Amino acid sequence: MIVLNLKCENCQNEFEGWFSSSKSCDEQIKKGFVECTRCASSKIQRGLSRPNVSVKKGSAKSGEKVIKELKSKIKEINRFIEKNCDYVGDQFSYEARRIHYDKIKKKAIYGTASKDEIKELNDEGIEVASIPWVKEEN
Ligand SMILES: [Zn+2]
Repeated sequence: MIVLNLKCENCQNEFEGWFSSSKSCDEQIKKGFVECTRCASSKIQRGLSRPNVSVKKGSAKSGEKVIKELKSKIKEINRFIEKNCDYVGDQFSYEARRIHYDKIKKKAIYGTASKDEIKELNDEGIEVASIPWVKEEN
């Protein structure tokens, strides 16, 4: 399957369509099977195909599966952090500054901080990374 950019000659609306090939797209346009998503006109022009969006038939993963895999990857990272870092909860920015300025023994910490706090820490030259966290499901 390929994604092709289509343009309506009637209302200039640009939209995308999935086709098995550019040839089949041309045929469908000729037969009037492709309609504008806005005005339903069948006067459609085919644009260039977009690179890197070709998906082999049958191998496309459903969104649900991708999310499931993503979640399990994030959980792996979460477990790594739990094992290797000290949890400081909402004292995160305080602890991060303490480590940075007081030069107390370097240890990795994790906890919660607001976007503003993270920005402030970054501005002060303190390295902070935001990591997504997945709740354990029972
Ligand atoms: Zn249109």
